[in-house]
Amino acid sequence: MLDVDGRRALIETVARAVIDHADELTQLDQAIGDGDHGINMKRGLEAVLADLDGLAQKPMPEALKGIGMTLVMKVGGASGPLYGTLAMTLGKELPEPADRAALAKALAAAIEAVKARGKSDVGQKTMLDVLAPVAAALADGGDPARAAAEAAEATVPMRAVRGRASFLGDRSIGHMDPGARSSALIVAAAAAALS
Ligand code: ADP
Ligand code: MG
Ligand code: MG
Repeated sequence: MLDVDGRRALIETVARAVIDHADELTQLDQAIGDGDHGINMKRGLEAVLADLDGLAQKPMPEALKGIGMTLVMKVGGASGPLYGTLAMTLGKELPEPADRAALAKALAAAIEAVKARGKSDVGQKTMLDVLAPVAAALADGGDPARAAAEAAEATVPMRAVRGRASFLGDRSIGHMDPGARSSALIVAAAAAALS
């Protein structure tokens, strides 16, 4: 079980990983969206960092619910409510303490909540195309960060069916999905902080 310092390190590492890559996320979104994904995520995660002390004091499930509410309020766009739903559902489903199997199960439930919220599914060139393989890797003993990186890369040849990129149809092919990249950054940072 993570103590206050462990929770602080985890939350801060994840937030900084996204903030540090905001320009890259925005560039990806410029190619197949409206060029704001990095700006949106940076705004949300800076708001999370502003409450880092308060969040780290809470047990992980409560901290995740708080982070989810902040993301809904601050990120905006399509990704804000979806990442918010992901974090809030993860907080609701995660037991304390949670082992790897419990995390896999909670993440699977959170992914279902994102699908319901986004009316979306795996295979549509979105964050789900990274999150689902990560849940599978967690469940079957794979390396979540590696699965995330490979899955983000695998969105490049996909045709977008949900989100703004879907407006481009075939022209969405050949670019990495911005939300897939932000999910991979989050997973890699969380895995590093938890190792
Ligand atoms: P917006 O498209 O409103 O500008 P962002 O740029 O912040 O929002 O986020 C775009 C990302 O959100 C996409 O790259 C994709 O991964 C994700 N996304 C968009 N719509 C959906 C959806 N319906 N289901 C799952 N993910 C989605
Ligand atoms: Mg956008
Ligand atoms: Mg937008």
